Amino acid sequence: MPCSATLNQLVEILLAQPVNLSAAALTQLGSSIQTDTRLIKPGEVFVALRGEKFDGHEFVATAIAKGAIAAIVDFDYENPGFPALQVKNTLEAYQKIARWWRDRFQIPVIGVTGSVGKTTTKELIAAVLATKGNVHKTYGNFNNEIGVPKTLLELSSEHDYAVIEMAMRGQGQIAELTHIANPTIGVITNVGTAHIELLGSEAAIAQAKCELLAEMPKDSVAILNQDNPLLISTATKVWQGKVITYGLSGGDISGQIIDNETLAIEDIQLPLPLPGRHNVTNFLAALAVAKVVGIDWASLQAGVNVDMPTGRSQRFALPNDVVILDETYNAAPEAMLAALQLLADTPGKRKIAVLGAMKELGERSPQLHQRVGETVQKLKLDGLLVLVDGQDAEAIAKSAEGIPSECFTSHAELVARLKTFVQEGDRLLFKAAHSVGLDRVVNQLRAEF
Ligand code: ATP
Ligand code: MG
Repeated sequence: MPCSATLNQLVEILLAQPVNLSAAALTQLGSSIQTDTRLIKPGEVFVALRGEKFDGHEFVATAIAKGAIAAIVDFDYENPGFPALQVKNTLEAYQKIARWWRDRFQIPVIGVTGSVGKTTTKELIAAVLATKGNVHKTYGNFNNEIGVPKTLLELSSEHDYAVIEMAMRGQGQIAELTHIANPTIGVITNVGTAHIELLGSEAAIAQAKCELLAEMPKDSVAILNQDNPLLISTATKVWQGKVITYGLSGGDISGQIIDNETLAIEDIQLPLPLPGRHNVTNFLAALAVAKVVGIDWASLQAGVNVDMPTGRSQRFALPNDVVILDETYNAAPEAMLAALQLLADTPGKRKIAVLGAMKELGERSPQLHQRVGETVQKLKLDGLLVLVDGQDAEAIAKSAEGIPSECFTSHAELVARLKTFVQEGDRLLFKAAHSVGLDRVVNQLRAEF
């Protein structure tokens, strides 16, 4: 059962002001905390959040009409007579309830942050933990100031572990999420250049990720990617507690890849759950978590079932032994380079990169796009098709000297060209920022090929 609390308990946790609620009414049990009136069921408590697009305060009447026993509203709300708990800030109230609820469970709670690989690492950790118990995890990408509390409010006594993804777009946000989730294990996947436009420098990004360590309880365990020197040096400044490092270049948890399919680690061999070197690193993080919670790696020899969301590490087979590597979900610079390496390492006749722009990179953007082109060249890929929107994507093609490259300015043009371009045995990697919409190209190709 998800979060349940009496209205009296909520008053106490939130230091709220009850309105239109008798002493008897305050003893009612709210069966769950809901922010979306489309989903509300009788007996639940509605929290009115003020967002960019919607203001939950406009839906209080709907919530009460659908059976909510009370609404949590702020002091600016002019209440026409609904049962309510008034607070200073409803988002803070939502987060406070989540923390209160989370603290009722004495289970390992694993917080995962980093520039790239959070969702993948979360899924790998969940897959490993699922071999031993019941895992609660962030659904999809619900990793922000609303998603994290939402996830925690769904914790129940059936769960043995919780794996919580935490994202940020600025300083202070990971600290806030850490306060809500109170993790017993903190995993930082890496520090890169994603969101550099907002944070200014890699050092500032490292600092922001390490808020996870600075804010988690002192007896928690930090699990850190050893391949990332800036992460390690920043982490040691803010964290004096237990550390486990992992990485292909070394660290406490390391190993060798055999034939792209197997990980040799210490004295055992484990099947790799996802393709690509970067996913081996992510898997090592999951093995570090296994070690902390006491799961024997030998019990993973039959493999683990990873539940990957769309556009990450997905493969689709087309006729004539053509394979699409669908990485269209998003493209941070580090993710772009990792995906190109994945393409280069994938056996096949021709290796073709179908790329588009990366976003939110500020003044570093031209240089980072150039590095993508240079990597295409260094990996000696067999072809490069670029969907150009804005000026930076073209820099990929321009800097991939000697690689046959073509640029397109519309999805339709690119799809038409792909239909004549693709040959038997091709391996095609699709990757760009989500807003470029390469996922639509993949879908069309799969439907029409
Ligand atoms: P978001 O910030 O959107 O939540 P995320 O951090 O959750 O992203 P994932 O969704 O796991 O990241 O992965 C996004 C992409 O990053 C993947 O498609 C993959 O190409 C790449 N990636 C995943 N793990 C790594 C890694 N360890 N190093 C480099 N790139 C990676
Ligand atoms: Mg994610």
